[in-house]
Amino acid sequence: MAKAPKPGEYQAKLRIKKGDEVMVIAGKDAGKRGKILHAFPKVNKVVVEGVNMIIRHQKARQSGRTGRSGVQQMQEGGRIEKPAPLFVPKVMLICPNCGKPTRVGYGFREGAEKLSARKYRVCKHPECLKPID
Ligand SMILES: [Zn+2]
Repeated sequence: MAKAPKPGEYQAKLRIKKGDEVMVIAGKDAGKRGKILHAFPKVNKVVVEGVNMIIRHQKARQSGRTGRSGVQQMQEGGRIEKPAPLFVPKVMLICPNCGKPTRVGYGFREGAEKLSARKYRVCKHPECLKPID
């Protein structure tokens, strides 16, 4: 039986984080690469630059400034394209050492007081196996 982490102890976390470059491996954007802009560990989702784009329509609104004619100026509404969160299992980390999409393993180093500081990520590609962080 797996031991439940005590409060304050290192808990399961996403294996990928903000700033990582990832490749999409499933869905309509499969094969695309991009940087992680946001990570949402609680829902196991990430936002990847240029991936899973959705179009938001923005309504025209008053800018608050008054034009020369005395009529309030309107700020133009429009379509805003932005990336929507996608599930972490749909992406794979691109290893900065070997440049290949890879699964992520963990290694441990001695010395640090906190368990989270001892843990580091490792590329699982058999020809690489280098630390990622
Ligand atoms: Zn690697």
